[in-house]
Formats: sequence, structure tokens, C-alpha cells
Amino acid sequence: MNIPKTEHKRVVIIGGGFGGLNLAKSLKGKDFQVVMLDKNNYHTFQPLLYQVATAGLEPDSIAYPIRKIFKAQENFFFRMANVEKVETSENKIITDIGILEYDYLAIATGTTTNFFGMEGVAKHAMTMKSVTEALDLRSLILQNFEKALLENEEEQVSFMNFPIVGGGPTGVELAGALAELKNHILPNDYPDLDINRMKIHLIEMQDEVLQPMSDKASSKALAYLKDLGVNVMLNKSVASFDGNNLTFKSGEQLKSKTLIWAAGVKGNLVDGISSTAIEGSRYKVDDKLKIDGYDNIYAIGDVGILKTKKFPYGLPQVAPVANQQGDFLGKNFISESKGASLKSFTYQDQGSMATIGRNRAVVDMKAFKFQGTIAWFVWMFVHLISLVGFRNRVITFFNWSYNYFSFDKGARLIIRKFKRN
Ligand SMILES: Cc1cc2nc3c(=O)[nH]c(=O)nc-3n(C[C@H](O)[C@H](O)[C@H](O)COP(=O)(O)OP(=O)(O)OC[C@H]3O[C@@H](n4cnc5c(N)ncnc54)[C@H](O)[C@@H]3O)c2cc1C
Repeated sequence: MNIPKTEHKRVVIIGGGFGGLNLAKSLKGKDFQVVMLDKNNYHTFQPLLYQVATAGLEPDSIAYPIRKIFKAQENFFFRMANVEKVETSENKIITDIGILEYDYLAIATGTTTNFFGMEGVAKHAMTMKSVTEALDLRSLILQNFEKALLENEEEQVSFMNFPIVGGGPTGVELAGALAELKNHILPNDYPDLDINRMKIHLIEMQDEVLQPMSDKASSKALAYLKDLGVNVMLNKSVASFDGNNLTFKSGEQLKSKTLIWAAGVKGNLVDGISSTAIEGSRYKVDDKLKIDGYDNIYAIGDVGILKTKKFPYGLPQVAPVANQQGDFLGKNFISESKGASLKSFTYQDQGSMATIGRNRAVVDMKAFKFQGTIAWFVWMFVHLISLVGFRNRVITFFNWSYNYFSFDKGARLIIRKFKRN
């Protein structure tokens, strides 16, 4: 891979997500060579993918070139590569651009969509785990309206039904944003189409949305969704989808050309790690974030599972965990190099939040919980300052302000047509 070996230990990081970025940053100016590999040359701010999918933001507002982030970090090397395998006995990784040796390996590959073995859903449903998928979804949503214009009333229903499966933050935020499109944008764009025929269905198998949040947040989010006209279907499970009909386990059917799947994730595992170190679809790690059974291989962020007293099923798969683990691991590498004692990871839970359309959000913090307009401003502020890169923050702030005052969304472009399989 043409990366010169130095006298410093080499830390190879697979993945430039939240965990990988923070680990690399924490080693700036330290006696390590840091090599990051990612299949994309950019970092994706996943929490705002739904805004790309619903024409609220352009992708370059939420993606940022990895090389630019580290342009001032001399000990940092980046290669765009898909990591295929780890040869643990030889401390090597195999990628599509060659082989690389490591002293320490940090796997920070995040997650991919979990379809729970439903083949039809995997084949036909739309997902939202990457910029490409969010852009496909944006194209498909708009293409559906272009097609609906050409159809008779009965067929229009299929194109204008938008079932979203999964009442977690992703499903709830997407449903809210689609409702905003329906209520404020689409009637102007398609005056010759009856936009009232557009139906947004949010399908959740449990009896509430935003299940991990407080009861107050869940019930308020439900009320907000209903207010916006979203048809929330609780205690409903999907059995199959064939690209035209969605079938529920109860046997009921919904005619729809589109299914948006926001119902589950599984770890993006790299071949070569022993199956005994895997639980579910994540790497079992100890409180030093070391993968079970290995001395120099670590997992950080979504792909690792660390169980604690407060989180007996593992820490939540959210950005703050990945951020904190990346930072923590870097500090431990530095301590180890100095012969100092290693710390154990403890998660500082900062709470959680979700937004449901304009002026509506729910925020659960340790000390207090609140909902409504103030929560919405808090949500916007937190997401704005969390975005990577000053330029992205400015562009997003400008876009949000423009959208807020004009009730308009500028990114309603079908740049690249989405083609169904
Ligand atoms: C739609 C959506 C909304 C979300 N909303 C929120 C939210 O509001 N708040 C919150 O806290 N969390 C949210 N999350 C979760 C949050 O984004 C994740 O917890 C966080 O991204 C995990 O960081 P990570 O570093 O573990 O992995 P990721 O950020 O997923 O990064 C993994 C990286 O690894 C790379 N990669 C994967 N496999 C390979 C390979 N084989 N070779 C090379 N590179 C590879 C990927 O390209 C990617 O860049 C959301 C997630 C999604 C999908």
C-alpha cells in the first residue's frame, strides 16, 4: 500500500465514522503512525441522512472529505480501501488495494441494515445507511410523484403510499420530514395532483415509538406524528414485501411501490475474527475495548458490544458512544506506550433526542426532559455543532434558516434516477 514503515507503532483504523475519526484525532502529534482505511473518501454524518433523503439538505452538507479533516496531522495516512479480511496470526489486513501490517488494529466499521432474513424486503425496500442510499431514496420519492401524475386514481395510491418500518429515531424523523414535504412543498410542486392521496405510514412492532426514550418523549412524539398526519401503526409486524404489496404478519396488506426500512442494524463485521468473539452481529469487547481473545485488536463504536451494569444488553449504538470510545482508545494507546496504567471505558450518557418536523422535538437529558419548540432549537443546535467542518455547519445553518422562513426545500432534484432491481 506504499505506506512507509517508521520507528513508531502503526495503528490501523478501519472506518472513518465517528469512532475512527476520534481515535485518529486523539493520536495527533503522538509517537504513532496512524493509517485509516475507509471504502469512501469521506465521513458521513448519519444523523442527518434523512434530511438528504427528503430534499432538505444536499449530501455535501453532511459528508466531509477525510483527508481534509486530517490535513494538519503529520502522522496520519489515509487510503480509500475496502477491507476484506484480517489475518490475525500475521497482524495483517487484506484489502481490495493490497495488504497492510498493523501493530494495533481498531475496527470501527459501524453497522449495516438488518432485514432479519426477509428476502423480499432486502430486495425491494429502500434503506438509509449511506449518502448513496439517501440520494436513491430522494430520487425515488420524487420519481413516485412524477409517475403518479401519469396514472389513474387507483394506481396513484401505490406510488403515493410511503410505509416506513421502524419507530426508532430514524423512522420517526423521516416520517416527520416526509409529512413536512407533503404539507408545505409538494402541493406547490404538483398542483395537478391531489397530494391528499399521499399517505405516510409509520409501522412499529412495539406499542410505542422511540421506545428507548422516556414515556413522555414517546407519547409526545406519537402526538406530534399524528398531528402531522402520519398514520402510526403500532403493534404491527411486517411479513413480506414484493415491490407492490406490503404484507403484515396479521395477513393485512398495503398497496405500495415503496417500502422504507428503518427497523434494524447489524454489525459490519470483517472476516478473520473468530466467531467466538462475536455476539449477535457485534464484536465482544472488554472495558479496554479489546476484542475477546485478541491482544492488539479493538472494536469501537457500533460494531462492538460492551455490556455494563446500566446497559446489560450492550451500550447503545449511537454517535456519542463511538466518539467517546475513539477518544478513550487513543488515550489508552498513549498510556500504554508510556508504560502507564490503562483506564477502563465508562460511557458518559448525555441523553437522547429526536425531531418530528418543524418546531417539534423531544429531548431526554439526565437532569430534565422537555419537548416542543425549545427542544427543537436544542436539537438543531446540537446537530449543527456536531457536524464535521465549519463549511458544512454554515451551509446547513443557511439551509435550515432558509427552509424555516420560506417553507421551502431547495434540494428537490432527481440528479441520478433511481432504478429498481
Ligand atoms: C439514519 C441514521 C440516523 C442516526 N441518527 C442518530 C442520532 O440522531 N443520534 C445518534 O447519536 N446516533 C444516530 N445514528 C447512529 C450513529 O450514526 C452511529 O452510532 C455512529 O455512526 C456509529 O459510529 P461508528 O464510528 O461506529 O460507525 P460509522 O459512523 O457507521 O462509520 C463506519 C465507517 O466504516 C466504513 N466501513 C465499513 N465497513 C468497511 C470496510 N469493510 N472497509 C472499509 N471501510 C468500511 C464505512 O464506510 C464508515 O465510514 C444514526 C444512524 C443512522 C443510520
